[in-house]
Amino acid sequence: MSKTHRLDLLNNSISYFKEAVSYAQQDTAETNQWKFAILHVVQAMELAFKERLRRVHPVFIYESVDKPDKTVSLRAAITRLRNPMIGNLTISDADKTKIEKAFDLRSELTHFEFNHSHEHIELKFAEIFSFMIFFYRSQLDLQTADFIDEGQHNSVIQLVKTRQELLERAKEHIAGRDEIIWICPECSENTFIVSEQQCCFCHRKEEIVDCPTCGTENFEHDLIDISDAFDWAVDEGRVSVQNFGMEEVCCPDCVAETRGKIEDIRRSQYDEDMAMEEYYYRKGK
Ligand SMILES: [Zn+2]
Ligand SMILES: [Zn+2]
Repeated sequence: MSKTHRLDLLNNSISYFKEAVSYAQQDTAETNQWKFAILHVVQAMELAFKERLRRVHPVFIYESVDKPDKTVSLRAAITRLRNPMIGNLTISDADKTKIEKAFDLRSELTHFEFNHSHEHIELKFAEIFSFMIFFYRSQLDLQTADFIDEGQHNSVIQLVKTRQELLERAKEHIAGRDEIIWICPECSENTFIVSEQQCCFCHRKEEIVDCPTCGTENFEHDLIDISDAFDWAVDEGRVSVQNFGMEEVCCPDCVAETRGKIEDIRRSQYDEDMAMEEYYYRKGK
């Protein structure tokens, strides 16, 4: 590999990181600014992983030896970094999940279906930012001054701390009350107050509904559509459905049982129909 390529990985990573920090530093509630901060910090991380693999052996930055034109995917890069024979790097399962989620977030950000609150992206940024500082220092032997200046470092650290304080305050708010708390589907914190149908940390609202089968409370988006198990018929353009007395949705815990019940009813109806046919056949003889 050429010397230029080697310099490119690390220098590119650092320039993306610096760009990310300058977006994060603006400290506004503007979602777009956080989008750019995430896009850049994830890009910085991907390049830093490749640089770390390149230092073990240049061949590891490619997906396979046969395909030297395609560089390794992020998931494969993490696997290689954790492999004792290659990177021999301690990345906990929790960190691995966070990194992968940040990558998923980046692909969502570049597509239309993006609907996260700026608080959520800010939290993700704080996670990856902290991880990258650790990674640059301990894995790529950089000094803090090599990739961020002191003023910027302090202001982002302040942001990360603010997030932490807000989270602690949300948890205190919960601790003083006798409420059922769930893990929030948006920020993944244990701060979703069921009775209020809202997270008290990121303020995400979610509808809570009862499962029609067992009556337990669920996030509406967790209910599962089982109407494909019904008997659907189209007769002269009119759709009719035999639902076997079941609702179209139920909670994940009830899916197997409800489908089983429908199967049982269908079978016993079939047996009954056969018995009737047999009866009329004999009678008619
Ligand atoms: Zn939340
Ligand atoms: Zn249920």
